[in-house]
Amino acid sequence: MNIEAAIAARNEFRIGEVAIRFEGPLGIISGPRMGSTGPARVASDDLRELVRTDDHGRYRPLPGARTMPGGWEVRCHSADELLDAIDAIYPLALRHIGQHERGELRVIPLDEVLRRQSGRYAVAASLGVEGRKAACNTLCGRCVRTPVWCEAALPPGGIPCPEPCSVLVSLCREAALWDTSPPAPSAPVAGLPFARFDIPGNEVRETYLADRAGAPLAGSPSLNATALPGDDALVG
Ligand code: SF4
Repeated sequence: MNIEAAIAARNEFRIGEVAIRFEGPLGIISGPRMGSTGPARVASDDLRELVRTDDHGRYRPLPGARTMPGGWEVRCHSADELLDAIDAIYPLALRHIGQHERGELRVIPLDEVLRRQSGRYAVAASLGVEGRKAACNTLCGRCVRTPVWCEAALPPGGIPCPEPCSVLVSLCREAALWDTSPPAPSAPVAGLPFARFDIPGNEVRETYLADRAGAPLAGSPSLNATALPGDDALVG
């Protein structure tokens, strides 16, 4: 999908968890989970702040996480305002989509990212291939982006992710420590900080641990099986 072309033609489209439609001179972005009472009107200048937290007020360290607050819409008065609003919601997504379409997206594999870590994150590089696969499956499965860095195929309308993000590196660090000293599983606790993988009950942590134990948690999102990375995509 070429988003600039869709906007120029005033064709509705979706990107990640939001929908874009056109009414008269306006381009309107709608968040997820529209209630029956109608959406809250948000100014485009306030959008970046709005999407910093989820419906429970938790900070969203991963802009692509499927935890977008719901029930809002933004009315944009020009194509530039609309493009800026999308960039506030999903930083760099438009640039990466364009680069992917032109075959210019620079992709960096997980092993390269883990090997360049230092200090407290250096241990992340010791995570084995099965742990890397489980970390990718657990975290990227909760993200609207498609990790093309692990050779996942970009679906139509998808947002390519060219490089493992810092949240994934953080999960790999914890997972490497768990490999040497496996923690006891806990029941997931709703409302814990998204990226505090060191806290028992963190949903991502418990999903990862269950996956590694061969007992996936029911209802947990994960990457499409065909998108799971092959071993070559995860090790140097
Ligand atoms: S590495 Fe995975 S979780 Fe992080 S931004 Fe990319 S697709 Fe999303």
